[in-house]
Amino acid sequence: MALSGIEIYKLLPKTNCKECGFPTCMAFGLKLAAKQVELSACPYVSDEAKAQLAASSEPPVRLISLKSDGHKVEVGNEVVLFRHEKTFYNKPGFFYLVRDTEDTAAITARVKEIDAYSVNYVGIDLTVDGFAVKADAGDGAAFAKAVEAVRAGTTRPLILIGGSPEVLRSGLEKLAGESVLISAATSDNWEAMTALAKEFKASLVVEAESLEQLSELTPKIKEKGQADLVLNPVGQSFNDSLLKNVVMRKMALAKNFRPFGFPILSTPYQMGDPALEVAMATQAVAKYGGFIVMENFSPETIYALLVLRENIFTDPQKPIQVQAGLYEINDPSPEAPVLVTTNFSITYFSVANEVESSGLPGWLLVADAEGMSVLTAWAAGNFDAERIAKDVKRFDVESKISHKRIILPGHVAVISGELEEELPGWEIKVGPREAVDIPAYLKQAL
Ligand code: SF4
Repeated sequence: MALSGIEIYKLLPKTNCKECGFPTCMAFGLKLAAKQVELSACPYVSDEAKAQLAASSEPPVRLISLKSDGHKVEVGNEVVLFRHEKTFYNKPGFFYLVRDTEDTAAITARVKEIDAYSVNYVGIDLTVDGFAVKADAGDGAAFAKAVEAVRAGTTRPLILIGGSPEVLRSGLEKLAGESVLISAATSDNWEAMTALAKEFKASLVVEAESLEQLSELTPKIKEKGQADLVLNPVGQSFNDSLLKNVVMRKMALAKNFRPFGFPILSTPYQMGDPALEVAMATQAVAKYGGFIVMENFSPETIYALLVLRENIFTDPQKPIQVQAGLYEINDPSPEAPVLVTTNFSITYFSVANEVESSGLPGWLLVADAEGMSVLTAWAAGNFDAERIAKDVKRFDVESKISHKRIILPGHVAVISGELEEELPGWEIKVGPREAVDIPAYLKQAL
């Protein structure tokens, strides 16, 4: 947890020598708390104070990055328990599991299918994040072949699970230059696993059945120089998993309890039953799962999970928006009508989908309304006649069409007079209030 200006001041030399460029140590401490200066600006800070100040500037939940060819999954850096308190920064990654006991051709084919899955949700392309390879065979050669088979089907980041450090080594040797997550260090093998993670610059899952054991293990591993850790509290049930995740995250954020200051691995694949697996994954998205490993893939279930994740991990202070501009729908000619709407994603897609499904060509002017829906933007002064007229000119609408007619959303009929004044010579028409009525309106109007 970050220290306050007063707490930092107590660690400074308090000589007010001004060498840092500030008149007093207190002034420097306040700037340091606001992260507007570097600690190195004071040449007189003791080593002990430096260590304390460095620890306080660490994020309460460490950022863990998995990287592979062109892909990166980042989890951690969270500072609040609930999104409405500020925002969540990094959404959890969805990883699909294959086992080294499966036929390698079947592994590659399944991985290719899952890797290719992509769905567009309000203008955002959603996909899975990576794959996990599990060492069930207990044999390094089999594990290495399975890793190769996965790599033949995807370039996304990998998690390597299970087996001895020697078996995991066989897999890691196939992934040179990548940042991989390996699982797991336990109270029995943590020294060998730590050495392996350090050698391959991998992140390391720390696994224990009780939170007490977990809190004892992570400091020992950190002391050996392995800082990139992920916690697996091995939940025995829905309730147990939820309780452990919440306790760990609360202790990390509210109490600055460093042994739990890491992302959490969730393993819904262990549920066995596909429906329970999805239920567990849902719980993990909602409550602090960082890397979520599943086994049963279906477009229906991953779609629901991806959309859920998007909704929880979208910054509530930043509306999802599309780029303002003039969009062409159904290959419009210069005679096609011009409709106007706002750049709030859901509004844009509602209108664009209705125009598209009408089968009629049209131009859609998406005005920059700071990502708000029509009525909200109008009430906030972000979708008025002046702004619409400005975007008509900015996107050079006149040069694309052979008429001067524009259709306003019915909800803002009240600004049609003002828009006529802003766009002299244009005919301002008032369209329907609801997007669903656009096809009928266009058919009648054309
Ligand atoms: S250089 Fe250090 S000791 Fe001197 S005023 Fe700044 S903070 Fe205080």
